Amino acid sequence: MTDSNVRVRFAPSPTGKLHIGGARTAIYNWAFARAMGGKFILRIEDTDPERSTEENTQIILRAMRWLGLDWDEGPEVGGEFGPYHQTQRFDTYKAALDTLIERGAAYPCFCTKEQLDAKRAAAEAAGEAYAGYDRTCRDLDPAEAKARIEAGEPHVWRLKVPLDHGPIEFDDAVYGHMSFPADVMDDMILVRTDGTPTYNFAVVCDDANMQITHVIRGDDHLSNTPRQILIYEALGLPVPTFAHLSMILGGDGKKLSKRHGATSVEEYKAQGFLPDTMVNFLALLGWSLDGETTIIPRDVLCREFSLDRVTKKDAVFDETKLEWMNGQYIKEMDAAEWVELSRPWLAEAFAAGTRAAANADEAASLEELRAFVADGTVAESEVAPFVDEELAAGEADVDARPEWYAKLYPLVAERETRLTDAAEKFPYMFWGSHVELDPKSVKKVLLKDGARADEALKACREVLANAEAWECDPMQEACRALCEPLDMKAKALFQPLRVAVCGNMVSPPLFESIELLDRADVLARIDYTLKVMEALQD
Ligand code: GLU
Repeated sequence: MTDSNVRVRFAPSPTGKLHIGGARTAIYNWAFARAMGGKFILRIEDTDPERSTEENTQIILRAMRWLGLDWDEGPEVGGEFGPYHQTQRFDTYKAALDTLIERGAAYPCFCTKEQLDAKRAAAEAAGEAYAGYDRTCRDLDPAEAKARIEAGEPHVWRLKVPLDHGPIEFDDAVYGHMSFPADVMDDMILVRTDGTPTYNFAVVCDDANMQITHVIRGDDHLSNTPRQILIYEALGLPVPTFAHLSMILGGDGKKLSKRHGATSVEEYKAQGFLPDTMVNFLALLGWSLDGETTIIPRDVLCREFSLDRVTKKDAVFDETKLEWMNGQYIKEMDAAEWVELSRPWLAEAFAAGTRAAANADEAASLEELRAFVADGTVAESEVAPFVDEELAAGEADVDARPEWYAKLYPLVAERETRLTDAAEKFPYMFWGSHVELDPKSVKKVLLKDGARADEALKACREVLANAEAWECDPMQEACRALCEPLDMKAKALFQPLRVAVCGNMVSPPLFESIELLDRADVLARIDYTLKVMEALQD
């Protein structure tokens, strides 16, 4: 079922980054609009001057773009219902207030904060629950009210909640039928003394003026909804359909918060998660396609999303599942896309590798290795963070030869669960003729049975030096053929080569890596390793 009249909005307050909960709300609105063939609107609710910043707005827009949540109307794209920042819509709130005044549905209230506080304190002292504003100014003589306003007396504007209003009822698309008693609603403030609208008033004005048909938002707003309905009714406007989304809990069953780790979209991006993963994963926090499918690409989501499959049960954020899902998306993507998305981490791998090669000091490395072999001493080494120039050089290298970087993809596609993994895995690709030997690997693989390792390395060197085609498979086969004459298992033969070329025993596939390096560099690394072995065995 589609309905091109559907208009939904995501309305973040730019008081912080785009958090996981907000991102899920955005995804649901976006997917619903796409599935219905309607419109998705982005509105910035920046009326809180103390906490809203332009910087946060930009961070939110960037996160939305990164997630691939395109909006049909809103900041940067415009639209016929703009502007899309609340601070630019004050004239519309003023007009709505005028309508309410005209309809006799709003009144000025001159009670000061001190007076209200005193009433609250008195109620509390008497052991009574404070029932909200006591409507002191509701029945002021209109002429008197007018005179006081004209005299410049500070005042707010309040909603005149009908005294005979029965329960406020609505059918929430997620929570079902809801009913709230109206007699506990006090006459809420619509416009503050300084002329700014309250949240409930601004939201209703905007949703009405922007012809929003469905309000999909977090259930922390559930208690605002009856108040907002009273405002719609007072303005004589149709009430949209509401859909409130349940809470997102951490693995421990408590509301997701900083304690659980990353909470903003930006942080997940920095940790090497893909936008496709985040959209898929967050979509499943409260919605399901059929109760079992876990990999739901965005085109399927945009076709199949519906509010009737949204549950009111709290959703649990399962980090392990997120990690697994990211691995699935990495496995499925194409190499060029991987390069593009991995760019910052490939640049880091480049920076790490080229720096290590530039600072290579054979004598010092030998000393370190000797100390480790002798008594397990590990030299304190602190890696200084990369400077901008190093990273820029890395990015330039990625830009200069993306095809070469694309060849790294198959080396990690099956194993990588985060794009950040690339930074740790590939520095050896940028060492040139140098190799950084990991002391543990040297001890375990090269020195334990030194004579055999030496023999293996020399035999492999010979094969590689004479390989006709510098290609993974024939090189691997030719080396493997050494097992029999040398009476060695493949592992005993290949591990020393791995350490000599990649520096340690836990690197990505060996011959695939060798193919991507220069022959002269590979041979130089082997020669250097043989020299180190000899020195250590003296
Ligand atoms: N600006 C509100 C918030 O960020 C959302 C209001 C709404 O969706 O109605 O919580």
